[in-house]
Formats: sequence, structure tokens, C-alpha cells
Amino acid sequence: MIFFRRVASCRLFNYRKMYKKIEQHLIFNKKRNSKIVTPCCRKSNKDQKFVTYQNYPEIYGYCHSCGKASLPPSIYEDDFGNEFYWDVNNKKFENVLQLYDKSVLQQVKRSVIHTDNCNTNNKKPVIHVDFQVVSISVTSSPENNLLLYLRSQYGNEKIDQVQKMYYIGNTNDGGTVFWNINKDLKVQKAKICYYKKNGKRTSKFKVPYKNEDGHYSCLYGEYLLNKYDKPTVLVQSEKTAKVCAINFTDYNWLSFGGINGMTNDKMKVLSGKTILIVPDLSENARNIAEKKIDELSSLNIDASIWDLSKGMNDDELKEKGYYNCDLEDFLRDL
Ligand SMILES: [Zn+2]
Repeated sequence: MIFFRRVASCRLFNYRKMYKKIEQHLIFNKKRNSKIVTPCCRKSNKDQKFVTYQNYPEIYGYCHSCGKASLPPSIYEDDFGNEFYWDVNNKKFENVLQLYDKSVLQQVKRSVIHTDNCNTNNKKPVIHVDFQVVSISVTSSPENNLLLYLRSQYGNEKIDQVQKMYYIGNTNDGGTVFWNINKDLKVQKAKICYYKKNGKRTSKFKVPYKNEDGHYSCLYGEYLLNKYDKPTVLVQSEKTAKVCAINFTDYNWLSFGGINGMTNDKMKVLSGKTILIVPDLSENARNIAEKKIDELSSLNIDASIWDLSKGMNDDELKEKGYYNCDLEDFLRDL
């Protein structure tokens, strides 16, 4: 088949045939198609916020505008190497080649939305990753580009501390592992990001543990809440949380991991707390955070926003060179 895949261990039985689930490696296309309409927020992709995956139909991809990933369905392989996907509407396996047929794509699109809705009521129980896996990733080499960059900026002593504090891991292919560890020190999920030598992120990332298997994300750094009795500040990116923890040690720095990452599921752990949210510098990020405040108060969270953009609109931010910057960018420039 055209995409590179590895057979995962999960097996699914269907009548006499046996199907093995195939791990899909989603790689973003370098070129973005500005002529499509985004499947998530139904906008024209003129601004090229929607990135599609290599070798997949263009209804699948990640939207930088609304923050939603539209993922292709899981694919299974029978004993003869034929590939299938699970047709949710007709409740049977269908040949994967059908995915490329336009009429089927429409159906799959509907069923993707359908399963999303079902999953919220019918979630798999939470499964944790063995802490040993975290320990191995923290001590394995080579060290990732983000840590190397931070060492060059802040020195070894501070970075050793911050690596321990956040359990920053390495992968064999140079990735930085951000472990989602909850307040009970149980490991829920991981995000692997890839950085350049100058500390800037590339567009490549991996999510090795999936929601459908019971791995749900929590706030990055959640366990710090039980460890230190400090005021809590929430930022968007994991990297910003770490850099702020180096510079301002009197606070617990947590990250919600993406512009739409403040879900009630993740935020409810902050019930009873007073928190400060620092959105990235764009109208969109500020609006999302502002809209969230009321909802948070219904979860008994007293949240306020530190608006670094001082109410400026996107054009003004672009003019000043602050657009889409975060607290870490400011600290670096100081
Ligand atoms: Zn969207």
C-alpha cells in the first residue's frame, strides 16, 4: 500500500476473518491547498490554515484556525494483507480503496462526526502508561534539540532541574516527549514534538497513545498542583510552561497544549483554585480564553486573563511583530 505503516498489536475478530489494526503514520503535506473548504469549521482555506496529510484524501488534516484534527478512520488488515476500514453506518468492514471514492468520502465524513458524538458518552476507561517508559525516555540519548537549545540559553543547572520537573523525554529520531502526567503521578498520554537547533518548532508531531485506546490528555504539568503550593498560571504551549518555570520559580506553570486545549475534562482538576491564563498573542487565542472564563466559573475555577496583547487586533499585532507570539518570546527578547 502507498503509505508506510506498521502493524500494531491490536487484533479484532470479525466472523471467520481476523483483522489486525494498522498503525497509521500521519505526515503533513508540505504544500497546502488553498482551494478547499475546511471540514471542521467550514471556511475557505484561502489563508491555508488547514494542513492535509500525505497520501490521504483532503478532508483529513489539522486546522490551525479552529484547532481540530480531522482524522482518517482506523484501518485494519486481514490475513491476506487486504486493507479495510470500519463502516460505522453499515456496521461492517469495507475495502480501504473505497475511501477514495467521492460518495464514500461523504459518508465517512458524516460517520466521523457521528462517532465523535458517540465517544463523548461512551468513552473507553482511562488507561495509563507505565512510568518506566517515562523514565527510559528521560535518560535516553541523543538529547533532543529543545533541551540542547535551552541549555545554550539558560545553562545546565537550570535545565537539569526543569527536565526533572517536567520529565522531558527523548525519542530515537530526535523528538521531544511531553508526558501528560496527572495529579496522582499517573501517565495518561504523550505528545512528541520536533524542534530545530534554534529552539523553533517544526510542523511534525506524533501522538503515540490514542484516545480510542483510553489515553486521554490532561493539563501538562498537572502533578505540580499537588507537589508545590504555588499560584497556578496556564499557558498554551509546553515549551512556554518550561521556560517560564525557569524564569519565574514562584508559580506552577501548566500548559493546556493548544489553542482549544482548555476542555472541561482537563480543567476540572483546577476546581476551587484561582488561576491566571496567558493566551498567545492573537485575537483568536484571546477570544477563546475570554469565552472560557464563564464556563470555568461554573466549574468553581476563579480564572482571570493576562492579556499580553493589551487588546490590540491582529493587524496591530502583526505591525509590531508580536502576532502569535507567546510569553516565552517576550522572555527571550528581554
Ligand atoms: Zn477548522
